[in-house]
Amino acid sequence: MSRKTLRLLFFAFGVLAGAVAVLLSTRRAAAPQTFDGERAYQDVLYQMALGPRLPGSEAHAQTRAWILNTLQEDAWQAESLPAQAMGHDLYNLVGKRGTGRPWIIFGAHYDNRLRADHDPHPEYRATPVPGANDGASGVAVLLELARTLPQGEQPQIWLVFFDGEDNGEIPGWDWLLGSRAFAQSLPALPDAVVIVDMIGDADLNIYMEQNSDPQVMRQIWDTAASLGYGQNFIPEYKYRMLDDHIPFRQLGAAAVDLIDFDYPYWHTVEDTADKVSPRSLQVVGETLLHWALSLSPED
Ligand SMILES: [Zn+2]
Repeated sequence: MSRKTLRLLFFAFGVLAGAVAVLLSTRRAAAPQTFDGERAYQDVLYQMALGPRLPGSEAHAQTRAWILNTLQEDAWQAESLPAQAMGHDLYNLVGKRGTGRPWIIFGAHYDNRLRADHDPHPEYRATPVPGANDGASGVAVLLELARTLPQGEQPQIWLVFFDGEDNGEIPGWDWLLGSRAFAQSLPALPDAVVIVDMIGDADLNIYMEQNSDPQVMRQIWDTAASLGYGQNFIPEYKYRMLDDHIPFRQLGAAAVDLIDFDYPYWHTVEDTADKVSPRSLQVVGETLLHWALSLSPED
């Protein structure tokens, strides 16, 4: 081998190493990924495998650890916020990114209901709700947003996982325990709060909700229509919901509840993963991702 060939070889090796380094670095700095409904669906399956995430249960503790860990892996500043309500220990979880305005909160409850009291079969009405749609679907959309939202400073985004949402009308409990405690602890009013609840139904019909902020709701419905999801985000009012947006509305914040309440398995033991579709998670997540990225600093 001549000295010239050797030098050429070194040169070629250098070019190759450089190319690999560039590839690795572009991969690291990759622009926002696209929201992946299939990947979100895996997070529904993960929660279902833990069992009902009832407050005080092992599955609930495992879900908390998993949510915090997932947020940290995706470079969110994550923390657990313990609170007490009606003698129950609650743990709201939050992932924060960015500073200043606009300041957006996306929220979903991760707890499940102690009793499937709407089950058509009386013998199941004392059984916990598995919560594939009512709980796991909203968590899955938030965690996939955690993976796909860009790492910029604006908008400031908080992903909040509420505890103690789903045990109203059960002695010793009430609805919205976690979100009430969280809203009361806010240092200021966010610019928008968007709650996702029961948005994984394979037959997805999200109607405008009567307790929601009309302006933010219109922005979201317009975004969905522009993405071709007008069949799923129906521009008509239907239900008036008591959901995790209410404590924020009571503070005066522009809060919206995204919910498909036409779900025959609501609070039954049939609220299982086969009723949830990756496409529905995709429709909601992609819409919220596009909406958040469309906000200008003046919004
Ligand atoms: Zn519920």
